Amino acid sequence: MGNIQSVCVYCGASVRADQIYKDAAVRMGEVLAKAGLQVIFGGGKLGLMGLVADNAMANGARVIGIIPKLLENFEGAHPSLSELHIVDTMHTRKKKMSELADAFIVLPGGFGTLDELFEILTWRQLQMHDKPVIIVNVNGYWDPLRKLIHNIIEQNFAPTGHALFATFVDSPDEVLDILENGIESRLKEPSVG
Ligand code: AMP
Repeated sequence: MGNIQSVCVYCGASVRADQIYKDAAVRMGEVLAKAGLQVIFGGGKLGLMGLVADNAMANGARVIGIIPKLLENFEGAHPSLSELHIVDTMHTRKKKMSELADAFIVLPGGFGTLDELFEILTWRQLQMHDKPVIIVNVNGYWDPLRKLIHNIIEQNFAPTGHALFATFVDSPDEVLDILENGIESRLKEPSVG
């Protein structure tokens, strides 16, 4: 997998998400583990987060969770990770998750997931990293986000090239192709729009 050994997965903690999203989280865990990748995530046991972690570990991956003290009580830390770091603040959590990862994968999620995605995109915009960000558009969930990014660029709030900071794929299985071959394989297709 070239330079990529650890991937950070951002995704929803909701247990009420539709089964199609839960299935994608299960598959994402399997795919990453089978590719021999280490998984970094927010350390929670609930929703898609827990499913990614469970299924990555069940398929032999090393899974590292990073959870702030506050959320340990609120969301509940996953009880059986390869490593669990309990940190003081949300900010430390996000910084540590980003440092440990060579690439970022975004599954469907809510406000927390969007916060994490936009932080990593803005850090890329500021050239604080150049790690791939792959958005898994399960069931078209992220279509409105894709449109929003397109609009941001069309209205000149970001340069055209910034569309390439995030690569959209339709399923967890497509993530590996991007990790292996980079986004070059997709440059002929517009990444957003
Ligand atoms: P959500 O997508 O809202 O289900 O949240 C997914 C994960 O993002 C949860 O583990 C949250 O703890 C985390 N998260 C990260 N940043 C934030 C934030 N600013 N507000 C709320 N949750 C956040």
